[in-house]
Amino acid sequence: MQLSGTKEKLEEFVRKCKEIGLKITPQRLAVYEVLLKSTNHPTVEDIYEEVKKRYPYVSLATVYRTLETLERIGLVKRVCFWGNSARYDANLSEHHHLICERCGKIEDVNLDQEINIPKHFHGYRTKGYSVNIYGYCPKCQSST
Ligand code: ZN
Ligand code: MN
Repeated sequence: MQLSGTKEKLEEFVRKCKEIGLKITPQRLAVYEVLLKSTNHPTVEDIYEEVKKRYPYVSLATVYRTLETLERIGLVKRVCFWGNSARYDANLSEHHHLICERCGKIEDVNLDQEINIPKHFHGYRTKGYSVNIYGYCPKCQSST
């Protein structure tokens, strides 16, 4: 869970918004807060449903735009996996994913082994790496 740093991260968001002259609205804050508090890599619709509980008049378009902005200023990452709709992640630390091919659950996972990716690789200047491990989650295994 990332609950411990939520307050600091929200403060950082406010600071970044001021820096780039972006208006801080309660809805925008709520979108980011929902993402910070979730560990299941929600879709835009998931986030929208959650924000709507607090702000019934928020629109899906606002949630979309807010996510785009958060992505642009580097506070949120979009994780896309084949066959799934876009999922969002506010965990920016280097980590890997366990993905259930049946229900689409995506969990953060750390690996014991480090893979040594060269700084220069096939003509690329590398920034990092992320491993996707596919399979069936415990719940889906027991329902087969
Ligand atoms: Zn599953
Ligand atoms: Mn993640």
